[in-house]
Amino acid sequence: MPVHGIDLGTTCSAVARCDRDGRPEVLVGLTGEPTVPSVVLFATDREHVVGEGARRQARLDPDHVCALVKRRMGDSEWRFVAHGRSWSAAAVSSLILRSLCEDAAFGSGEQVTSAVITVPAYFGDEERRATRLAGTYAGLDVVDVLSEPIAAALSYGFGRLDGAPDLRKGRDDGDYETVLVYDLGGGTFDATVIELADRRISVLAVDGDHQLGGADWDERICLHLSRRFCAENPDAEDPLDDSAGSQELVIAAERAKRELSDRDSTEVVVAHDGHRSTITLTRAELEDMTSALLRRTIDLTRSCLEAAAQRGVARVDRVLMVGGSSRMPMVERALRTELGLVPELHDPDLAVAKGAALYGAKKELERIVGSDLVTRGRLRPDQPLDEAPPDELDAACRRAADALALPLAQVRRQVDIRVDTVVSRGFGVLARNAMTGELEPVWLVHRNDHLPIDVQRSFGTVRPDQDAIELQVVEQQSQVASSRIQDVKLLVAGAIDGIPPGYDAGSEVRVSFTMGFDGLLKVLAYHVQAGLPLTLTAQTGATLSQAEVARERDQLQRTRRREA
Ligand code: AMP
Repeated sequence: MPVHGIDLGTTCSAVARCDRDGRPEVLVGLTGEPTVPSVVLFATDREHVVGEGARRQARLDPDHVCALVKRRMGDSEWRFVAHGRSWSAAAVSSLILRSLCEDAAFGSGEQVTSAVITVPAYFGDEERRATRLAGTYAGLDVVDVLSEPIAAALSYGFGRLDGAPDLRKGRDDGDYETVLVYDLGGGTFDATVIELADRRISVLAVDGDHQLGGADWDERICLHLSRRFCAENPDAEDPLDDSAGSQELVIAAERAKRELSDRDSTEVVVAHDGHRSTITLTRAELEDMTSALLRRTIDLTRSCLEAAAQRGVARVDRVLMVGGSSRMPMVERALRTELGLVPELHDPDLAVAKGAALYGAKKELERIVGSDLVTRGRLRPDQPLDEAPPDELDAACRRAADALALPLAQVRRQVDIRVDTVVSRGFGVLARNAMTGELEPVWLVHRNDHLPIDVQRSFGTVRPDQDAIELQVVEQQSQVASSRIQDVKLLVAGAIDGIPPGYDAGSEVRVSFTMGFDGLLKVLAYHVQAGLPLTLTAQTGATLSQAEVARERDQLQRTRRREA
């Protein structure tokens, strides 16, 4: 079964797979469209509609339409309440995933059972976890979560039949190309500097904002339209004071925004409360009212380039613009004039899904080759493929190519592609400052550290005979690693209990953080001198509890049974 690639977008989602030649193709469902709006309409307490139907109905039933749910991923407090039932972001996203996969299966005749799902590079641990959860709820085997810019770079660098991109001589005499991916989607923005070598992708720096995207442009236009409408119709109610009116305005604003990517001016009809206005909107006005939004993307891009420069990146060879919102001419112009870059639009709507499919195909081949080597005793189950003896790896690739009737070169290339990435946030623990006695964050992992991460740090107990140690794992919230407790987000908390008496203050407590390419963080802590197997009980403070997970899964299963 192929591993599909899914771009679970803020405004639109898409699913892709690789064909027999290893070329990624987007699966088109019953609608004939390659992307499906990430919108859910809860029609009754038992029925829901996903996609264009939900988007169209949004105007008539705004209180039951959930859009932009990706912005809520990882927010354990947030619920969408419809018809007396409440849905977490992961649960709503699972409905989108399920519908997308079922629709693609209708179109292609092929079930989607396992997938790589993409997330913005800037997504933290909780958001990635919630994304995995959404896939699991949807009945998918989530093989991996992959950062969107990496997916875009994969589709640019490895999605072509003619092989790798045109590479130049690199610093270490290897051939490489440095690529900046500027990804402005519907709800998120990512800037990423990536180095593309013949068979390697290395993420050198990331920056971004997952509360910034095309939807913010829509919002600014809505405000402008409502002001103009109210000025022309002083007796009419403000459309933004009414949910149906604002929904209608958002749809009109988004349409106008798209039109203004191709022309200088457009007309928007706003009809509300028995009044009607035809408002002319020019591209210049649009650019003026949204300049602060664009500025933020430019500032984040600049800081990403600076972080890459600190890692020795002297030049950027190529600038890829992905994400639907990078179609706005103001984006290209700002990248040129403000940063002196020469950007090119690269398959803005589908690059991410295609890259995820390429990565999915790679993961599937790696699984086949890996289990062949494990079965033959040439690799331990916990060992990565690149630790296999080269001749054994070669032979296993040959067997896989024979079994799957694929060219050996294709199998070799897919297995050989390496993705090295960096973390998007800092992670640490709260520790008591010996001088002030205050709890403050101590960072073990810093933003832009390379993955995989395996770091250790030792702390001391604060008093003699300390029988328990509290461990609070925190994530960096601001752009810089702050030492203020207010600037961190608690990810998970636990305790090492039952430490026997007899140990001095300052006894060593070693904390280790490991994080793989999927960005999931594992934390281990132990009291060294006690030398006893001490257990860490980590309760997720900010993510869904196990009970909630089980409850939601049951709720979804009940819904499915009723719908079946
Ligand atoms: P994505 O998340 O990459 O699918 O991007 C979707 C976003 O791109 C939405 O906010 C759309 O309104 C926006 N978008 C799509 N096409 C255009 C266009 N031609 N001009 C401006 N924005 C666009």
